[in-house]
Amino acid sequence: MAIPYSKINDILLNWATNDPPIEDFTVENVLYAAGLDSSYYEIVLRYLMSKTGFELIPKKMLVCPSNHKIQAFDLDEDLEGELFDCFCGESDFEAEDFILVFSFTDDFKKDALKKKLMKNQEQRHLQLV
Ligand SMILES: [Zn+2]
Repeated sequence: MAIPYSKINDILLNWATNDPPIEDFTVENVLYAAGLDSSYYEIVLRYLMSKTGFELIPKKMLVCPSNHKIQAFDLDEDLEGELFDCFCGESDFEAEDFILVFSFTDDFKKDALKKKLMKNQEQRHLQLV
């Protein structure tokens, strides 16, 4: 199964330079944006995880029993025994349901912004000639 690397990287660059940057996105969000079906989940997940610490920071997003996003935590953060509330009225629930989310490292955001500026200048230059 071939991954469209450049397509995924373009999507990530776009999201990182969005104002404000798109944070806490899921593998599903990437699949959807790239027009890939769920059979690509595993391989795209592995690709995104390979960027850990360089471009992306994976986190676990706690969701309430009704599936609302509560808060993102480091993957190894221990939430044993802590209780959480949600705006929807669910309260005093334990951290049991998580979804995997990704955000961008500051370095990647800076680099992506630089690339975008260069691209824009190139395009402006091309239009002048
Ligand atoms: Zn809720």
